[in-house]
Amino acid sequence: MNEERYYPGKGCQCYAHSEYECACNVDWTEPEVYELRDEVKELKKWKEAIEKLFEICGLNAIEFKDIMTNKINLDVFKAQQSEIDKAQIEFNNATLDLIKDIYKTLIIGFLLLIILMLVTWGYLTYTYFNH
Ligand SMILES: [Zn+2]
Repeated sequence: MNEERYYPGKGCQCYAHSEYECACNVDWTEPEVYELRDEVKELKKWKEAIEKLFEICGLNAIEFKDIMTNKINLDVFKAQQSEIDKAQIEFNNATLDLIKDIYKTLIIGFLLLIILMLVTWGYLTYTYFNH
C-alpha cells in the first residue's frame, strides 16, 4: 500500500470500471482482502503463541479448555460461598441482637417484679402496724 489511501484500481489511467476493462496493470484488489490478510497474519501469530504455551504446559487445547472451565466453576463456587458467608454473618448478628433484647426484657421484668414486691411488702407492713 502506498502513501495515500488505497482504493481498488488506484493509479488507473484508462478510466476503467474494473480489472477486466483496465489495461494499466494496476492493483484492483479490494481493501478488505488486504485487511483480512493482515488479520490472518496476526491470528497466526496468536495461534503459534498459544500452541507454544500449551506445549510448555504439556496440554492440548481440549485439556486447556477443561482447566479454564473448572477455574470458572471454582470462581462461581467461591462467589456463592462468599454470599453464604455474608448471610451467615448477618444471621449471627440478628441472633445476637435478639438475645440482647431478650436479656434486656428479662432484666426490666425482674426489676419491675422486685419493685412490685417491695411495694406489696411496704403496703402489708403499713396495714399491719396501723390497724
Ligand atoms: Zn486502467
